[in-house]
Amino acid sequence: MKCSEFLQELTNYLDGVMDAKTKSELEDHLSWCHNCYVVCDTTKKTIEIYRDSQLYELPDDLRTRLRSAIMAKCQARKKTGPREV
Ligand SMILES: [Zn+2]
Repeated sequence: MKCSEFLQELTNYLDGVMDAKTKSELEDHLSWCHNCYVVCDTTKKTIEIYRDSQLYELPDDLRTRLRSAIMAKCQARKKTGPREV
């Protein structure tokens, strides 16, 4: 699995709405890709903060913004190369 594929599935993964095969592929990716691990961890914490403030459903607009922020970060990293990391 590539990082772009991982990021596309990330919100589904955190929601727990995916089949077991995709889930294990994501977990495999997390085990070796530090970048995606950090993104996953940060996103998970963001969601937990929302849950703590008693918003149990992640609003659609937040989900969209979160995803585009992650994708933008991923694109920027590709353009600027490793020295930006
Ligand atoms: Zn990755």
